[in-house]
Amino acid sequence: MTPPEAEVELWRRAGRIGAAARDLGAGLLRPGAGRRDVAEEVERYIRAQGAEPAFPVNLSINDEAAHYTPAPEDDHRFRAGDLVKVDVGAHLDGHISDTAVTVEIGTSRHGALRQACRDALAAAEGKVRDGVPIETLSAAIETAIHARGLKPVRNLTGHTIEPYLLHAGTSIPNATGMSSGELRAGQVVAIEPFATNGKGEIRNGPFGNIVRFRGPPSPERAPELAELYRRFSTLPFCARWVADEDLREILLRSRRYLQTYPVFVEEGRGMVAQAEHTLWVREDGAEVLTP
Ligand code: MN
Ligand code: MN
Repeated sequence: MTPPEAEVELWRRAGRIGAAARDLGAGLLRPGAGRRDVAEEVERYIRAQGAEPAFPVNLSINDEAAHYTPAPEDDHRFRAGDLVKVDVGAHLDGHISDTAVTVEIGTSRHGALRQACRDALAAAEGKVRDGVPIETLSAAIETAIHARGLKPVRNLTGHTIEPYLLHAGTSIPNATGMSSGELRAGQVVAIEPFATNGKGEIRNGPFGNIVRFRGPPSPERAPELAELYRRFSTLPFCARWVADEDLREILLRSRRYLQTYPVFVEEGRGMVAQAEHTLWVREDGAEVLTP
């Protein structure tokens, strides 16, 4: 299946905006920078480009692998030595990009972790084409990370993307032995190797301030939520994006309509790095949409 050219162009534009936002965020990281300020500046940039954030900017630090976005009152400041995953997405009419880099602030102790993820991502990208077994991509990722003497995070995966669906059903594991499918031309996929010097697994930590509607809330029983659903649909969002204080309160009391995301924390409290691109699977290779 090849999507019509107009569709592909939307994915490409969302990809370029996501990539530029990712690089903007990475460039803002320095000792003393506010975590909430960085997230909000990146999200402002995405909106100024005519797109919407596909999910709240994730700024996960050290042994946090993913899924932390600042709360409205977050006053945390980055410190020298922090290993920060900047994971960013933009969407145009539901056409989502998803991309990440890892930055070490002010020190260079974790170059191997960062490089292992970049190597793994490049190795997997090089294998992508119509019909490639997902296991081949997992093996490329695992081998590249082991080559640096590190472990892949086994229970985090890349994923297919469909309009308004960030995780559309097919996973691309970062280690072998867990998949059986193949990629098909026309699919949009995010590949996201995570490397660690810890145990190689994450567990669920505290709430990371990110939520998502499971489905449409009842317009009769929850009219305020129906308004938010019209805005965010089934994409992840956060309280920072809800200006109205009363609406934020309602959101906190409405967990049964919402999926809430815990922070993913490395089981052995190891340091974690990540690299991620969104790609379009073609007959003979991959087009990187988030260069
Ligand atoms: Mn991501
Ligand atoms: Mn992803």
